[in-house]
Amino acid sequence: MIEIDPWGVADIKDYARLFEEFGISPFKELLNQIDKPHLYMRRGIIVGHRGYEEVVRAMNERSKFAVMSGFMPSGRIHFGGKMVMDEIIWHQRMGGDAFACIADMESHSVRGTSWKDCREIGLNEYILSLVALGFDVEKGHIYFQSGNKKLRDLAFELGREVNFSEISAIYGFSGNVNISHMISVVMQNADILQPQLLEYGGPKPAVIPVGVDQDPHIRLTRDIASRMRMFRVEKRLDKDQKPYISIREKQAGKKALDEIARRIEGPKKKYEMHIDVFGIEASEVDTAMREIEEIVREVEMAYGGYGFFFPAATYHRFMQGLTGGKMSSSIPESYIALTEPPEEAAKKVKQAKTGGRVTIEEQKNLGGSPAQCTVYELMMFHLIEEDAHVKEIFEECKNGKRMCNSCKLEAAELMHSFIKTHQDEREKAKEVLKEHELYKQWL
Ligand code: SF4
Repeated sequence: MIEIDPWGVADIKDYARLFEEFGISPFKELLNQIDKPHLYMRRGIIVGHRGYEEVVRAMNERSKFAVMSGFMPSGRIHFGGKMVMDEIIWHQRMGGDAFACIADMESHSVRGTSWKDCREIGLNEYILSLVALGFDVEKGHIYFQSGNKKLRDLAFELGREVNFSEISAIYGFSGNVNISHMISVVMQNADILQPQLLEYGGPKPAVIPVGVDQDPHIRLTRDIASRMRMFRVEKRLDKDQKPYISIREKQAGKKALDEIARRIEGPKKKYEMHIDVFGIEASEVDTAMREIEEIVREVEMAYGGYGFFFPAATYHRFMQGLTGGKMSSSIPESYIALTEPPEEAAKKVKQAKTGGRVTIEEQKNLGGSPAQCTVYELMMFHLIEEDAHVKEIFEECKNGKRMCNSCKLEAAELMHSFIKTHQDEREKAKEVLKEHELYKQWL
């Protein structure tokens, strides 16, 4: 594998092929528009996005936006789950209304996890770590799917817009998939759209930070959000290549379309089912589009619609398992749980697969391969804040100046310290939750 930079560009090329196929955009295109990007962003760990421009604009304009993601309570919280938590917390600190879902209905229907285990794992593994990592419970929302009636009502509503053939094609469901599993799909769609309900301040850009494997949920939810809209607003070009904006009524009725026509100033033409708005300069078409979308959204909501923004997503790369290959809950050595004893975690780092050579002599002469090294990955993803330090490790490894034994010792110490601190913070998190009216019932 070609290694180009400390953030593993060769790896990104593989993702680029995947993205081309599914229409995901490279994240680096937006990087210079983000004030103080998270290290996952700076280091190319968040590698792609879908529709994140709207969220970046909201962050920069200090207007409202939301962040949400979910955790299936079926195993221990490990560093893969930590990535999603870090991303939720970062967006919350950037001003986003933050939602963290414990997907107990999904875990119960798909994995057969008992309700009791869902509750215990959800709380003791996931919620405590989320709060310990910095989630602000006063500002944000943590919920179990099963305890959220509004969410279930929304899922029921969204379920009208998707049929069995469609979800079978997306998820490969066959005739023997249980009905509750199918319901858990629309529950996820509802999780994603819930931050835009009126009780949470209404429609707004929302980002769902996930691993790339979650893209089918995002695509389906964006489709459903579009189907739930009462109007479609599109930029178009006339025969002279001049821009205009078309507003097509789908299910709101003629009165609502008349209302929109009344509210939009400037030259326009009204037809039976749509309005075309003219006189827009090419340089102003995006601004005009946003203004018109806002008017349309207000009218839609006045007529009983949801006015959903299509949810955005950021996609992060996966960490390798410590033994090489994927992390697997059936191979405890392949991952480190945030809840395991710090000594055990440090031991796993010392035993992890590296990108080192077979002999010290070879390592000195040929250098190591950090992109293949799970220890380097832990340091780069989680254990070292300063970019310069990570770059230094990368260079030293490549140039044969760094040996795996001492490198692993350094990483093991960092891991021990991280896990110990995190577990102290988890104890404090219990106290924080106990003081919160909504959450104390869980403890
Ligand atoms: S020196 Fe460090 S970064 Fe390089 S391969 Fe060995 S453990 Fe990995």
